[in-house]
Amino acid sequence: MHTTQTLSQKSQHFLDLEDKYGAHNYHPLPVVLNKGKGVFVWDVDNKRYYDFLSGYSAVNQGHCHPAIIETLIEQAGKLTLTSRAFYNDQLGEYEKFITSYFGYDKVLPMNTGVEAVETALKLCRKWAYEVKGTEANKAKILVCAHNFHGRTSTVISFSSDPGSYTNFGPFMPGFEIIPYNDLPALEKALQDKNVCGFLVEPIQGEAGVMVPDAGYLSGAKKLCEAANALFIGDEIQTGLCRTGKLLACDHENVRPDILILGKALSGGTLPVSAVLADDEIMLTIKPGEHGSTYGGNPLACKVAITSLSVLKDEKLAENAEAMGQLLRNELTALASPYISIVRGKGLLNAIVINHPNKEAAWELCVTMMHNGLLAKPTHGDKIRFAPPLVITREQVLECVGIIADSLKAL
Ligand code: PLP
Repeated sequence: MHTTQTLSQKSQHFLDLEDKYGAHNYHPLPVVLNKGKGVFVWDVDNKRYYDFLSGYSAVNQGHCHPAIIETLIEQAGKLTLTSRAFYNDQLGEYEKFITSYFGYDKVLPMNTGVEAVETALKLCRKWAYEVKGTEANKAKILVCAHNFHGRTSTVISFSSDPGSYTNFGPFMPGFEIIPYNDLPALEKALQDKNVCGFLVEPIQGEAGVMVPDAGYLSGAKKLCEAANALFIGDEIQTGLCRTGKLLACDHENVRPDILILGKALSGGTLPVSAVLADDEIMLTIKPGEHGSTYGGNPLACKVAITSLSVLKDEKLAENAEAMGQLLRNELTALASPYISIVRGKGLLNAIVINHPNKEAAWELCVTMMHNGLLAKPTHGDKIRFAPPLVITREQVLECVGIIADSLKAL
């Protein structure tokens, strides 16, 4: 095993292209991928890696899942986009499928995750004015410190991460940030009669896989109900079996009033997101009041049905639960002095690095990359371990071996 390795000429070529012609809004690991299958990806020099990021949990079903790709290709040859100016023969079928799959009256289809978050926020405000009876333009939505809900101007308006909001103002009013995992703070904030909703990640993924205390989500739902405020669950990263249940809210039998999904809804093939709610909420938005050119396109609809079917057919929630337990147990058993915390649920996990070198988490990721496992630090000292949910027991054990060897090089 080695920790340093110069990049091949081929890889360097692609790095240089992105550096010269692309905006510098990401800081990728120096690896150039051109193939994926299941839990593996390959670089342009045909070296194989375990993918422990899974496209930020978009690839729960594994890279290039054969059933999803077959559906994609088949529908792509028939009809891809009609816009919502006309009906198409896939949207209604998909709407019926996904609403019965999750148990809601209606769905509003969008594309990226943040668009679905925006949709949920608009829906919540509309409901406040038209159902709850909030005074015009006074609606307030509660959010949590260290949240991550995407990158639009509205959504970064309530971020507590300076990297997300600095020099992007002025910001959208109507949001209040409260501490995460703090029911008394939520209860107090809900006393404001203008509060109409609470937007929350069941586990804060980008913040470093912050798992709230047991009882937090169910307690929050009860408090929202008592205050007649909507519980808005952002399950874009935690949903679709990632944490060992279909939804992370299922761990506490919580049914969000507005459910936001994205990422793995297409198994990593194209941007597909969705907002689910019951009629009282969803029907407040009338024709022409919200939408998206690509939202509900027939290609996305067909792919989403297959992506959701794969989750159940392959029992990926059960596998995520079992493999997640194994991964955390094995990582804890390493008893590495450089790992201060191992945490997570299902296959959404993180380790916190304990090392005097501030760059240690990044350096460990570079070493793991050389040793055949791709993961990325988040917020400096945390490394997320979130492989595709199709990972097997033998593969988990092999990966823990790679992580252990890499730790030794720190
Ligand atoms: N919400 C959560 C919880 C997320 O993790 C993300 C992306 O990481 C988003 C929203 C934004 O999704 P997208 O990048 O598809 O806009």
